[in-house]
Amino acid sequence: MTFAATILTLYPEMFPGPLGVSLAGRALEREDWVCDAVQIRDFATDRHRTVDDTPAGGGAGMVLKPDVLAAALDSVEGGRPVLAMTPRGRPIDQARIRELAEGPGVVILCGRFEGFDERLFEARPQIEQVSLGDVVLSGGEPAALAILDACIRLLPGVMGAPSSGAEESFEEGLLEYPQYTRPQEWEGRTIPEVLRSGDHAKIAAWRKARSEDDTRLRRPDLWERYSGARDQSASGARRNEEG
Ligand code: SAH
Repeated sequence: MTFAATILTLYPEMFPGPLGVSLAGRALEREDWVCDAVQIRDFATDRHRTVDDTPAGGGAGMVLKPDVLAAALDSVEGGRPVLAMTPRGRPIDQARIRELAEGPGVVILCGRFEGFDERLFEARPQIEQVSLGDVVLSGGEPAALAILDACIRLLPGVMGAPSSGAEESFEEGLLEYPQYTRPQEWEGRTIPEVLRSGDHAKIAAWRKARSEDDTRLRRPDLWERYSGARDQSASGARRNEEG
């Protein structure tokens, strides 16, 4: 099945952009995914092809008009999740990426200027407001590229080794363990001994411990969720044994 990406943007020339090279680019050539960038401005109705107007209530910048955005969105074939890029949205995570990658594709609406007229989201409740994280970009396009990249690498046949997705950061709710490669010694630093032991059980235990330690130190938010879930399933197992 081909993963169909439609991007609604004022800058369609930004797509596929960096997704036209390397892994994603080869997948595009094979038609594992297709990329259709729609110019929002084509749906403006006035002589000047206006897409934005000044914010109600005053303030700096311009706001994207709901009528033009809705016309652009309504022109696109449905049956796929619709994501609007906005820092006001729910931060995207790997679990949602995985769901998207398993589906038919995605429609992504990219903002510019001060963003979208809020009534768009009331009138088209199927739109999922999504953020790339707690940063402010100048436009939704880099966020869309990042989300598409994350989906594409999960499509069947896109990544070399099918297992290399499973141990990645976030897949188990933890950061990945640190990686090393040759040379064995570099600037006086050696690769941790255990990784050279050939003892797969010991290596797995070391990696798990480092994943947990690094997550606890670097990402207390992830750690809280992970250790909470782990304690819950442990007490569930205990209850089962007792009962
Ligand atoms: N005034 C808005 C920011 C607008 S930035 C606010 O403070 O919420 C312009 C556009 O860039 C947005 O409409 C959105 O499409 C995109 N953008 C900026 N930061 C983003 C983020 N963290 N995630 C997703 N899209 C973002």
